[in-house]
Amino acid sequence: MSVSTTDRIRRHLVGLKMPRALEILDHTVRQLERGEISPLEAVDALLGEEITLREGRRVRAALKMGRLLNIKTLDGFDFSFQPSLDRNRILTLAQLEFVDRREVVHFLGQPGCGKTHLAVALGVEAVRGGRSVYFTTLADLIASLAKAEREGSLRERLRFLCRPQLLIVDEIGYLPVIPGGGNLFFQLVNARYERGAMILTSNRGFAEWGEVFNDTVVATALLDRLLHHAVVVQIEGASYRLRRHADLIPDTARVRPINPPAPAPKRRGRPPKARLPEHATVA
Ligand code: ADP
Ligand code: MG
Repeated sequence: MSVSTTDRIRRHLVGLKMPRALEILDHTVRQLERGEISPLEAVDALLGEEITLREGRRVRAALKMGRLLNIKTLDGFDFSFQPSLDRNRILTLAQLEFVDRREVVHFLGQPGCGKTHLAVALGVEAVRGGRSVYFTTLADLIASLAKAEREGSLRERLRFLCRPQLLIVDEIGYLPVIPGGGNLFFQLVNARYERGAMILTSNRGFAEWGEVFNDTVVATALLDRLLHHAVVVQIEGASYRLRRHADLIPDTARVRPINPPAPAPKRRGRPPKARLPEHATVA
């Protein structure tokens, strides 16, 4: 290829703002001249590298905008640690049809069982799939709504929170909800109802929501919206954080073996370690 042609291509790439293609142009031309790649492969390489760069940039910006800062992925989730969890069900959710159908996904389970991990991982999948996502905890969400209400901008705040196609609300039930908080959350849930998807995580059963929100009327109205078009994923397993400290896990939070072994002869005290499910024992 003549120098003037490569120079012209270089100027085009600058004009088109294609820095990555510009970067690999010389190398690609050399490969072409050595007959290592075909002309079509050269075009493909230039465009492919550029789009990969842009896509990575788009995803990083969208994750930041959506407050998905502590990134977790489905690849990083060890399904063998949670035998009660149907892997295929999670992989189906990762297809994002629930987002497009504007459904609500609930992850329920004990602290450390992977609720936030799965919620974030599905959020990351949604961002990769081009959907808009916003992540928050219930406490932060309510605090932001309460602040907006005080400042007379509740309407704008609600509109902002209705924009993302997927809203993730983490940690329902951990912290007491401030007075009036349930009502504010209800306004948001009602505004998003059938208009946008949500993922909610909670360590408390739905029957306890009256207590969580300190208001049974609001809890009933919330659940009415949030359980219509909903997928409930109950994680029965124990804390992943405590997996190396099986002795600390209360019996109620242990993973029950799917085929429980025949009951051992009655003995006093703690069962011998060898009888615990493999993944709950000290490594
Ligand atoms: P929860 O939100 O249910 O309290 P998290 O999702 O925050 O629990 O999980 C606690 C920690 O353990 C996180 O660092 C998470 O990435 C990790 N974790 C939980 N379950 C798994 C798992 N099955 N495979 C890999 N990491 C896990
Ligand atoms: Mg969590």
